[in-house]
Amino acid sequence: MSSTYEVINPATERIVKAVELADLAVADKVIQRANKAFASWRQVAPGDRAKLLRAFAQVVFDHREELAKLEVLNAGHTIANALWEADNVANVLNYYSAAPERLFGKQIPVPNGVDITFKEPLGVVGVIVPWNFPMPIAGWGFAPALAAGNTVVLKPAEYTPMTAMRLGELALKAGIPEGVFNVVVGKGSIVGNRFVTNPLVRKIVFTGSTTVGKQIMAGCADQIKRVTLELGGKSANIIFADSDIEAAAAAAPGAVFDNAGQDCCARSRVLVEKSVFDKFMSAFEMAVKKFRVEDPSLATAQMGPLISKKQLDSVQSYLTEEVAFTGGAPTGAGFWMAPTVLMPKKTTAKVWQEEIFGPVVSVMAFEDEADAIAKANDSDFGLSGSIWTNNSSKALRVARAVESGNLSVNSNSSVRYWTPFGGYKQSGLGRELGPDALDSFTEVKNVFIATDK
Ligand code: NAP
Ligand code: MG
Repeated sequence: MSSTYEVINPATERIVKAVELADLAVADKVIQRANKAFASWRQVAPGDRAKLLRAFAQVVFDHREELAKLEVLNAGHTIANALWEADNVANVLNYYSAAPERLFGKQIPVPNGVDITFKEPLGVVGVIVPWNFPMPIAGWGFAPALAAGNTVVLKPAEYTPMTAMRLGELALKAGIPEGVFNVVVGKGSIVGNRFVTNPLVRKIVFTGSTTVGKQIMAGCADQIKRVTLELGGKSANIIFADSDIEAAAAAAPGAVFDNAGQDCCARSRVLVEKSVFDKFMSAFEMAVKKFRVEDPSLATAQMGPLISKKQLDSVQSYLTEEVAFTGGAPTGAGFWMAPTVLMPKKTTAKVWQEEIFGPVVSVMAFEDEADAIAKANDSDFGLSGSIWTNNSSKALRVARAVESGNLSVNSNSSVRYWTPFGGYKQSGLGRELGPDALDSFTEVKNVFIATDK
């Protein structure tokens, strides 16, 4: 029996649309369709597969405004972010469209023959996406998967199915053959879990919470199913006294409040060198108060609402510490919350250790370089982080010492589609994006050919 889910606009709490949710039987049917399509998709000539991916990229780009507006409506993303997100899908498709013609193997010297390796596709790849960045996270999975010759079943989060459904239609419009790229809207516990248990799915790319990621990894063990995990974060923004404090303070709100803090890379722990703590905090307060939280369809909006009432309640349950200061937010309908700054006293505080996934940041002072590194690493997570200093040797020393997959110096930007992205420790397993992501979507096959008579 199928059921429906009512998609809510988080900025107004109005119903956008009722979507049908797939049950187990539907999920299995789609997986079978993808498995059938694999036989022919893997045989498509590399140049033709490249052309199809470029066509898909172009169609996405041609529909960027429509896709962006859907995301504003469905997820409350600011229009500026949503346009970037639609473009990111097109860019990632374009980037990996170069891969089919460059999936090189090796020729390895061996005695008595010739040895060559091939990068073979895996089969059906299941991509499970969270609600915080529905478009880019889907693209980071499906673009390299398709490029390497796999077929894809994509499950968006229940809250945010709209852009995924549209991308499924746009793929067909671009000429991607039926069954190659499939979108199945349904519950994680049903459809997502079926990707794990159905043996026709050969790999899972999961982005979401660490709790569900652990369940998926354990489930995949049963079939030795390949898995890539992109999980939570509690990233540190480390500000040294020798940095441009004004610039660091002006950039710090965007680094954590972008997407209402619902960002695995959010710099939700700010570490400030003691000697400049007060100077930083007064500049930071001004920047937070100026941060524009408003109707996300406005071009001026820097932050929209949270995704749901449930998420808002969960984030607000963390506000047990004394609040240092807040920014502003609209009142009335919608899941709005003002950017909030806390100053916990101890690193054992819940707000310092747990991923809040909302517009809340904790600030703490540090003594010296060693203390900054120790405090930054005092976390189960290790996804991103920033280091602000004008001493380039120190910047590199600290970047090497912080246990995290993606660090930025004098910048808070973590994501470029042509560089690897992923986490240390409980922030994940494997890397997405960049030149090496294709390794996670292929098996290496070694073939020896005897040449002796
Ligand atoms: P979530 O509950 O882990 O859900 C993520 C996805 O997994 C959704 O599509 C969900 O479907 C599905 N799912 C839930 N239970 C499942 C199961 N048992 N088997 C298979 N799939 C299942 O996370 P969320 O609430 O959407 O997102 C918030 C969390 O994700 C945060 O902790 C955040 O840090 C993390 N995150 C990490 C990254 C990263 O790149 N590292 C990016 C974004 C988010 P339903 O929607 O139907 O529940
Ligand atoms: Mg969940």
